[in-house]
Amino acid sequence: MAQILDGREVSAAIKEQLKREVSAMVDQGLRPPHLVAILVGNDGGSMTYVSAKEKACHEIGFLGSVIRYENTVTEQELLNKIDEINRNDQIDGLIVQLPLPKHIDENRVTLAIAPHKDVDGFHDVNMGRLAKGADGVKPATPYGITLILKHYGITTEGKHVVVVGRSNIVGRPMSIMLSGPGETGNATVTVTHSKTKDLASWTRSADIIVAAIGRPGFITGDMVKPGAVVIDVGTTRVDDDSKKAGWRLSGDVDFASVEPVAGAITPVPGGVGPMTIAGLLANTMLARKAQIHAQTA
Ligand code: NAP
Repeated sequence: MAQILDGREVSAAIKEQLKREVSAMVDQGLRPPHLVAILVGNDGGSMTYVSAKEKACHEIGFLGSVIRYENTVTEQELLNKIDEINRNDQIDGLIVQLPLPKHIDENRVTLAIAPHKDVDGFHDVNMGRLAKGADGVKPATPYGITLILKHYGITTEGKHVVVVGRSNIVGRPMSIMLSGPGETGNATVTVTHSKTKDLASWTRSADIIVAAIGRPGFITGDMVKPGAVVIDVGTTRVDDDSKKAGWRLSGDVDFASVEPVAGAITPVPGGVGPMTIAGLLANTMLARKAQIHAQTA
């Protein structure tokens, strides 16, 4: 029986800590951190994620607001709004919920966000700083994963971590963080992807597996070394008539066959998802503190 790494519980503890920091700020007469999310269109998943982020902001005393656009919004309209937010010193963090409609260049939009307000950590400047091991914002999902590992006392030093997936938002930054120096680094990391040959031979040699693929149930029990830690990033909606909504969220890990083999595992839902929000809130607090520091320096 694997230990369940409970993202909801860990995220709640991090939010409590942030809430205390907000109270202390407000007691000193300072404005609380302010996160703005831009949401384009009516995609169900995107709407759920954005409202969860907004709710989490309000729970801990952050200011949180959502700017909504129809699918027909032009790239220029979005860029203008981002420019306006970049220059607004009442706003500390800005996220643009992805994916965007096809007529909008996601890369151009991401690069338009001022790096110091990019609390998702997707901007080239922040990715570059991460790659160089400099201080700064870390992409929210991999950052959240390091926080849950730390919470459960799961060390990474000297371990073999196999990251499945090499996206710019999860797999790639995760591999950089785990292979860098520091408390949640110093691992020997293998990055795998769709062109990797005999993937199971790699995952079977892993002390820790991070699965970020987007293919429900892809990692099965026979691909996991007994006792390994398995982090499931995947969140794919799959049809499920037994649910009121007609769907459920499925991870990239086949929980039923992996849980009996693994030493510890994150569930879906309730694992990495809440930790991503915790990472985002922590990044927003960092951005606010940096602004206060700059104003008082
Ligand atoms: P992505 O950009 O689509 O990247 C998927 C990666 O998986 C790619 O690198 C791809 O390889 C690799 N891959 C696909 N099929 C594979 C296979 N058969 N064998 C090995 N590797 C394979 O996805 P993403 O944005 O990283 O997201 C991955 C999953 O995590 C999705 O389900 C997403 O919804 C979820 N997610 C969850 C959170 C959260 O907060 N819980 C946050 C972000 C993402 P190639 O590069 O070779 O194509």
